[in-house]
Amino acid sequence: MIQAVLLGNAQDAGVPQAGCRCANCQAAWHAAAQRKKVCALGLLDADAGAWFLVDATHGNCNSFSIFDFTFDL
Ligand SMILES: [Zn+2]
Repeated sequence: MIQAVLLGNAQDAGVPQAGCRCANCQAAWHAAAQRKKVCALGLLDADAGAWFLVDATHGNCNSFSIFDFTFDL
């Protein structure tokens, strides 16, 4: 079985975005609870012991722990 997990829930660079002065970004600079991570898709194939990231960026790094993995470089 393959599980799909949405990582993040914001477009582009997430919230807040650098240099943006909209109300949402301003609130997020001052309150961590208002921050949103950029959206990406994680696919986990537990039977094969494999996981895949789709459209992931460095902004998703904090979400990777759900896969319980280590990098083989
Ligand atoms: Zn903004």
